[in-house]
Amino acid sequence: MSKIQVLDTVTIDKIAAGEVIERPASVVKELVENAIDAGATAVVVEIQEGGTSLIRIADNGCGIEKEEVPNAFLRHSTSKIRSVDDLVHIGSLGFRGEALSSIAAVSQVELITKTKEQTFGTRYRINGGKEVDLEDTGARDGTTFLIQQLFYNVPARRKFLKTPMTEASHVGDLMTRLALSHPEISFQFINNGQSRLHSSGNGKLRDVIYHVYGRDIASNLLKVNASTEDTGIKITGFLGKPVISRGNRNFENYFINGRYIKSGIVTKAIEEAYKPLMMQHRYPFVLLYLQMEPEVLDVNVHPRKMELRFQNNELVFAAVKEALVHALSHKELIPQVELTASGGRAKKEEEKQRQKTLNLSPEPFETKRMGLYEQTLKQLTSMPEDAFLRERSSFL
Ligand code: ADP
Ligand code: MG
Repeated sequence: MSKIQVLDTVTIDKIAAGEVIERPASVVKELVENAIDAGATAVVVEIQEGGTSLIRIADNGCGIEKEEVPNAFLRHSTSKIRSVDDLVHIGSLGFRGEALSSIAAVSQVELITKTKEQTFGTRYRINGGKEVDLEDTGARDGTTFLIQQLFYNVPARRKFLKTPMTEASHVGDLMTRLALSHPEISFQFINNGQSRLHSSGNGKLRDVIYHVYGRDIASNLLKVNASTEDTGIKITGFLGKPVISRGNRNFENYFINGRYIKSGIVTKAIEEAYKPLMMQHRYPFVLLYLQMEPEVLDVNVHPRKMELRFQNNELVFAAVKEALVHALSHKELIPQVELTASGGRAKKEEEKQRQKTLNLSPEPFETKRMGLYEQTLKQLTSMPEDAFLRERSSFL
């Protein structure tokens, strides 16, 4: 064996980059999260060749002071926490201070940034973790990153990338989720010169949903708005009616304190709530926003922050399930039954009138059919709620 040596920073950063930066979409995620943390109200993301040759991310956030620019690229440098105590009530999306150093270690980066207070902007270039130059430049308030030749110095990683089309679709999916997670921010996504998504940033979630998913989904949603003081969990968003169920889980999306997360607990709660209404192997469309005290979450369990730990799994499970069951029991879900019921009644009235005027009795088979129908309806409506729900699902 060779001698034990402490690795140099460039090598350490390159290794660390492996955890954080897996593909172009990871770069976009980290940089857009930084833009959100910087208070941006508009973010433009442009990629070429699936993001392998170029990723451009421009925001109108607070910018970075010239003196701070090189520091931002140091590993574990962050303006968002000062000590481990701050992790407990973290409000920002970032905190690990390793995105910029990781990205810079595996690509060629150019940064142009300006704060409101500064007259000039700053231009900084860093390739493969090595600083190239730092100079003054004319710039607008905010920050623009240009990431070129991702993984140019990590051939093994580059080889694992999929086709530009696939990589671009990962970025597209991510942009969709980002737009949905922050309706108050305008997001634009440009792929090979073509604008693929442009949300208005007017804060109206329904507008974003319509823009992203289209009319069919947007017009089949139920609102959720639940919060309980005892759990401290607030759940808002939209639930798709069973008619727009899907064959996979791609449309089960939720954000916890503004973060797109995958959680077995939340997924299970969603699916259990929908169970009486769903056929097997069908999954609902949901878009949920969970807000809870940062203290009851541990977001620092995954380098890409895609998972988190809850202090109390049962509490979260119960809160989500209950909020959904409640929203799904809403009358709106039974349009068919209700419509036919009142429609049937109205028809019967109409028929009575007609009979009166014509002084004719209904055809015997018609009387029988109406009787049967009334009986079924009576049975359905006198059932306990859960049985009714189950029965009702066959109508939907
Ligand atoms: P983290 O987000 O975990 O703090 P990063 O490596 O992503 O770490 O960024 C390092 C620091 O650079 C941030 O803490 C922030 O101060 C600054 N920064 C990065 N991107 C931006 C941006 N778009 N606008 C303003 N400041 C930024
Ligand atoms: Mg960050």
